[in-house]
Amino acid sequence: VWDNCLAFIKDNIQPQAFKTWFEPIKPIKLTENALSIQVPSKFFYEWLEEHYIKLLKVALTKELGPNAKLVYIIKMENTYGNKEPFTEKIPSSNRVGMVPQELDVPIKSKNPELKNPFVIPGIRNIKIESQLNPNYNFENFLEGDSNRLARSAGMAVANKPGGTSFNPLLVFGGVGLGKTHLAHAIGVEIKDKYPERTVLYISAEKFTQQYIESVKKNTRNDFIHFYQLIDVLIIDDVQFLSGKSGTQDVFFHIFNHLHQNGKQVILTSDKAPVDMQDIEQRLLSRFKWGLSAELQSPDYETRVSILKNKIYRDGVEMPEPIIDYIAKNIKTNIRELEGAIISLIAQSSFNKKEVTLELAQQVVEKFVKNTKREVSIDYIQKVVSDYFEMDVATLQSKTRKRHIVQARQLAMFFAKKYTKASLASIGSQIGKRDHATVLHACKTVDNLAETDKQFRKYIDDLSKKFS
Ligand code: ADP
Ligand code: MG
Repeated sequence: VWDNCLAFIKDNIQPQAFKTWFEPIKPIKLTENALSIQVPSKFFYEWLEEHYIKLLKVALTKELGPNAKLVYIIKMENTYGNKEPFTEKIPSSNRVGMVPQELDVPIKSKNPELKNPFVIPGIRNIKIESQLNPNYNFENFLEGDSNRLARSAGMAVANKPGGTSFNPLLVFGGVGLGKTHLAHAIGVEIKDKYPERTVLYISAEKFTQQYIESVKKNTRNDFIHFYQLIDVLIIDDVQFLSGKSGTQDVFFHIFNHLHQNGKQVILTSDKAPVDMQDIEQRLLSRFKWGLSAELQSPDYETRVSILKNKIYRDGVEMPEPIIDYIAKNIKTNIRELEGAIISLIAQSSFNKKEVTLELAQQVVEKFVKNTKREVSIDYIQKVVSDYFEMDVATLQSKTRKRHIVQARQLAMFFAKKYTKASLASIGSQIGKRDHATVLHACKTVDNLAETDKQFRKYIDDLSKKFS
């Protein structure tokens, strides 16, 4: 069926586009009217949906009739807590929208009757899936000055999990600098060296969700018990625990148990422990027990080697000056670096253009423009103060002058809207106020937005600067 579809598609599009977008697809399964195909990445899937969905539909309908369905299976990419790790099935019906499958706990019980996933009927019966992404390994985590310490600490931990003084190992750094990649690499390496050890990778967000669920279902103890069975626990993005005292509390207990029993804990965070906000002191002090290693922005040489490696793995060719151009212009985020290359390849094959420096410039420009700046509370205060032509100290001051109060309230409102910080944290950062003040500010802004035209304009103007 797929071969017939391909033949039809091939006749209808440019050969280069066919080669780029259709040759890499693997047909996986056919049931009645649904064909499952595997695509190499989420980006790939989105591209197909955006550009070729009509063509695909026609081709498929010809083969399978009017009820034809296409199911994408996306290889790689990290999907949290999926039963089949790193494979995301997205049913595509007649529309572009999609419903990713919902799954919860990474426990495979032999007893399918179990209503509660945390109930453990005799420990031997459970198998904990590590949720590791084999594509994130040490081999393709290129070394440079910016990551040398973190990388070698990770290696040391992988060689002797629980047996080094790097416990916990905390890897911190900005977005797109390789925290998740390194965290997986450590886990993958441990699984390789010590297959019998239970390793679990989980994002702090997912961990929190599971915890909340367990409280709702009255299975908090099972939740704790489950985590205490793990030999190597990897929690990604622990900054997510900020302000979540229940989850912090339960994590504290789990951490202590694991640590006392010589189990390894690996954490990642976007900040160093000293800069973390709204994390309990006792947890912070535990984070500092082991080693905190920073991932910094890669230097030029490292950026070039990461790009070259990516290009090589993708099996494409790219002139040296273009690689150089990208490496010189995208400096602070490896994800963007990779994104620019992917986008460049896509553009060139889609438009049947050769990869020229000019095309690279266009792509990089769009790329840099399109990437959202991370909005921090500091940044919000700066933008709001600039907008009202005052300085940040004035905005934070105790004065009750109306326009200053309004600016302050707007800053609080936007901080609530665009950051994950808690009310208390927003208050403490905007002139040491309490959470009630922030809540009041948000309500006031909501009210004024509806009743005051001028005020509405402030909100609209400022919103543009944050999104
Ligand atoms: P973070 O979790 O810090 O936001 P990720 O781990 O998701 O960043 O990394 C972003 C992208 O950059 C990933 O595709 C990852 O494979 C890649 N990457 C990061 N560091 C390196 C490296 N040292 N070598 C190769 N690729 C890297
Ligand atoms: Mg990450």
